[in-house]
Amino acid sequence: MGRLTGEMDSSERHFGSGWISGMLSVILGVAGLSTVLCLLYPQLLTTADARSYYNVGWIRLIVHVVLIAAFVLGLLSVTLRQSKWLGAAGMLLVLVASLMGGSRASQRLEGQSDVYLGLDFFLLNLILLGTIFIPIERLFKKRDQPIFRGEWREDLFYFFISALFVQALAYLSLTPAFTVLASTQWASGFREMIASQPLLLQFLEIMFFTDLVQYWFHRCFHEIPWLWKFHAVHHSAKHMDWLAGSRMHLVEIVLLRAFTTLPMYVMGFAEPALYAYIFFVYLLSTFVHSNVRFHFGFLQHVIATPRFHHWHHGIEKEAINVNYAVHFPLLDRLFGTHHLPGDEWPEGYGIASHPVPTGYWRQFLYPFRKSVPKSAESADSSASKSDDVASNDETASM
Ligand SMILES: [Zn+2]
Ligand SMILES: [Zn+2]
Repeated sequence: MGRLTGEMDSSERHFGSGWISGMLSVILGVAGLSTVLCLLYPQLLTTADARSYYNVGWIRLIVHVVLIAAFVLGLLSVTLRQSKWLGAAGMLLVLVASLMGGSRASQRLEGQSDVYLGLDFFLLNLILLGTIFIPIERLFKKRDQPIFRGEWREDLFYFFISALFVQALAYLSLTPAFTVLASTQWASGFREMIASQPLLLQFLEIMFFTDLVQYWFHRCFHEIPWLWKFHAVHHSAKHMDWLAGSRMHLVEIVLLRAFTTLPMYVMGFAEPALYAYIFFVYLLSTFVHSNVRFHFGFLQHVIATPRFHHWHHGIEKEAINVNYAVHFPLLDRLFGTHHLPGDEWPEGYGIASHPVPTGYWRQFLYPFRKSVPKSAESADSSASKSDDVASNDETASM
């Protein structure tokens, strides 16, 4: 596995080196095998609400083409490249998918399951966001960084976990809102009034109220030391792109959604406005992290843009505790945390002294750990403070 990941991160990537074909083979192999697993166990691995919309005939045809392409690209990589790991891994994935039935795989379990994982949700999200953002970032990149930049595997794993546990996360984060809703029947008249407004107005109101809640939630996660340790995971990203925003501790994901969905559901907004907003915030939160150099003129003072949020992730001192809003920079102006100098961008991203370890599981445990490990202390004396309280050093880079 180490050699395979080493090959993925290899610097020898030029056209003709067999790296591009090898990576494509692995990606298509994973996508093909995942889809075969979805065909075998749809009750367990696919999102319940989406199942009835799938055209299985088309999916089988696509899997067939994907697996053949993965195999051919793997073969090409093995021929071109001295190290055979990438090509062999791609072909092995195709072999496993074929042994499971390939494009003809049929359902192995009968009946329904109340619990499912969103493997299909992961693939669809990745295809949708990748198709939109990879070309935009290639054409309008702010920083010259490859698609497979440092720590892309970690960020992709965050993306994978959030999609896979879509049902559990939705359940946990919606429970508070539904509990409040059920115990406040007396306010149904008010909710009917909210839901009867024009949809566009409801959409703007949802944006405003969720951002107001989100602003203070976000600010607490920066300014209260033990909460910061959860949020530090999000800020540990040293590269900004469409995948970087996925890096967020599971505890923070659940709490953030639980708080932001409160105004959405408790105030009684109509479903079309809620769904439109959820789709909008899904695209906007990906966009503000993306590596694009767009200038929005006057609009950058109205709505959050990549430069606005990149400053929030900036590594320099002036980027400390600024730009908390996700929609309206006006909230930061109002509460004194706005920072958007001229046409400038931050020098780099992350937390000075890099206190957060790398890797999903180490980052998962990071907020629960009491002290900095010895190796980190000896490696960087500036990080040798107690981790129980965020020091100025750490605070200085949020
Ligand atoms: Zn933050
Ligand atoms: Zn962010």
